[in-house]
Amino acid sequence: MSFEKFELHAKIFAGVQALGYTVPTPIQLKSIPPIMEGRDVMGLAQTGTGKTAAFVLPILQRLMQGPRGHIRALIIAPTRELSEQTHKAIGQLGRRAQIHSASIYGGVGIGSQITRLRDKVDIISACPGRLLDHIQRNTIDLSHVEVLVLDEADHMFDMGFLPDVRKIVKHLPKQRQTLLFSATMPNDIKSLANDLLLNPVNIEIGHAAPVETITHKFYPVQMSSKTELLKNILDNTETDSVLVFTRTKSRAKSVAQQLDKSGYKVTSLHGNLSQQKRQQSLDGFRDGRYEIMVATDIAARGIDVTRISHVINYDMPSTADAYTHRIGRTGRASKIGDAFTFVTADDAGLAHSLKRVLGDKLQYRSVDGLTIGMPSDKAPAHSNRGANEMKFNGGRKIFSARTQTKRSPARRSFDNSNRSLWSPRSPMAV
Ligand code: AMP
Repeated sequence: MSFEKFELHAKIFAGVQALGYTVPTPIQLKSIPPIMEGRDVMGLAQTGTGKTAAFVLPILQRLMQGPRGHIRALIIAPTRELSEQTHKAIGQLGRRAQIHSASIYGGVGIGSQITRLRDKVDIISACPGRLLDHIQRNTIDLSHVEVLVLDEADHMFDMGFLPDVRKIVKHLPKQRQTLLFSATMPNDIKSLANDLLLNPVNIEIGHAAPVETITHKFYPVQMSSKTELLKNILDNTETDSVLVFTRTKSRAKSVAQQLDKSGYKVTSLHGNLSQQKRQQSLDGFRDGRYEIMVATDIAARGIDVTRISHVINYDMPSTADAYTHRIGRTGRASKIGDAFTFVTADDAGLAHSLKRVLGDKLQYRSVDGLTIGMPSDKAPAHSNRGANEMKFNGGRKIFSARTQTKRSPARRSFDNSNRSLWSPRSPMAV
């Protein structure tokens, strides 16, 4: 199955080829035809599934006909990073077709955005707050919008943006196509979809569990040993780019500083940084100048750095959904990724819930002198597994001190020789 089946305009097909896409991903296969027919679509899809192109390509196809220079498509996303990424994808896929987009978000001056909006723009990729600001100042004309996309709708809900989204929608033509994408479907998103989508085609890709190619390793640890454990893992694992998550902005900053002092090529990304600093961190991480980025959840939403081989949860995320989103930063496209999570005694409850979702894919690991025993419900009679390979089985298990800390790289990153996320045999290919 190739992209030719969609009969895209030659100039848009050229964009697909320029990005090197040869086989559509499952969400592209399922979404592109109904979107091209003008249907509303509700897509339940994890991050990293190729959903951006799934909606951008049909939008570009639609814009090949009709007038140019009016805003005919509006994409609303929760974070500046995601908004920028979508804007970039439109630039890459739509370059030959000369379709122009602009991204609109807060934290940067509004003046240059106003100037940009006076130019000819066909697509807007925006965050809700700043978009509403432009609407209120009358600096944006949304009266020509034909397609509305709500991307990562559950994140918008998490971040308290749904009231803003509802206000924005009131300024759009009633006659339009609406597409809603979300990795999870909490009730508030269902009711938003009920209100905004007309007889939608429902598309579900995989389930709300992290992508299949990722391995999940949990390290029971005390708070005070986390940084040493992190360094130990970094020193003993062959990695490409590593994304480390902390719970707070101050911890993201201090962990990055500690790693920097120890000689790692590290940067940080959190809400206390100016937009310019955030962009510098992201660019440096993307182009490989920094091998490690320490970030908070909000800052890291939507990051698409294809080389991320490992996500390390320095702090456990607060919900299973948040875990899914963090882990969605690795294993993107057809890459294989590893997710390491530091689990303290306080995190035992969520660790249990994740065990239910991940099943056998979750392995508990120990590192000599740095990890601790992990208390749980029931003692298994025997375990014939090595301490380092022990799978969590809901039993009371104290890690033995007999552990092996590897001195040489344990594995090659991205050994994706025959394990494509999108191969027809993959459980992801629905
Ligand atoms: P997304 O879920 O839209 O953030 O996409 C995740 C990653 O997959 C991005 O790096 C895309 O450029 C890439 N991607 C999207 N569609 C394809 C495809 N059909 N073939 C290869 N890579 C793709």
